Amino acid sequence: MWGSIYRFDGQASVFWPHAELESGESAEAPCYRCLYPEPPPPGMVPSCAEGGVLGVLCASIGSIQVNEAIKLLTGIGEPLVGKLMIYDALEMEYRKLKVRKDPNCALCGENPTVTELIDYESFCGAISEDAADAAAGSTISVTQLEHMLKERENGERDFVLVDVREPNEYEINRIPGSVLIPKGEFLNGNALGELPSDKQIVLHCKSGVRSAEALAVLKGAGYADSVHVGGGVVAWVNQVDPSQPSY
Ligand SMILES: [Zn+2]
Repeated sequence: MWGSIYRFDGQASVFWPHAELESGESAEAPCYRCLYPEPPPPGMVPSCAEGGVLGVLCASIGSIQVNEAIKLLTGIGEPLVGKLMIYDALEMEYRKLKVRKDPNCALCGENPTVTELIDYESFCGAISEDAADAAAGSTISVTQLEHMLKERENGERDFVLVDVREPNEYEINRIPGSVLIPKGEFLNGNALGELPSDKQIVLHCKSGVRSAEALAVLKGAGYADSVHVGGGVVAWVNQVDPSQPSY
């Protein structure tokens, strides 16, 4: 019983490749991989903080999943096997599409290439290659950052600490002495005009993924000594300042 939510839309389906249904419509139903054979490229999917999800969608799609579970357990009704339910919360519209089994599916096809669980983090590329390259050798820890901030206070060092999260995240918690420039401003190039070229730039986000992406942009623009903070503000709250709220 699968469900997915993004912004104002939701999807639900039941994946049961060898389903035996009461209606006799047995057999060859699609699996998740038939519907979505390839993960989107890294960086294409906005984080929850950037894209967001309308909160009530969790309940709308969750209750569809529960309903499907009850139907399968009790053997009543027509489950969403081979069908994709699409819910548009803004238009208040449900649509149902037929999904066919892909004979060449890597998982349930005739010659499957995926026969066991794989490393999904690397398969889905939680971080893009450019970002990983940029972060290699240019990642500092929150304790290093804490030390650097003290040095900056004492006038022994100068750098700009940039928080690349969204404004609503900055309201919840922050690393003192940071300025907010959301990641999107790096991707569209606007941020580059706001940053001094004669100071080191230190980037951070919530956990270190978005800051690595922004770091790739900075490095590409010639900010060779720029770094980002591994673990982001989450690590800062855990290790340096537990008095701040986390999310
Ligand atoms: Zn399949």
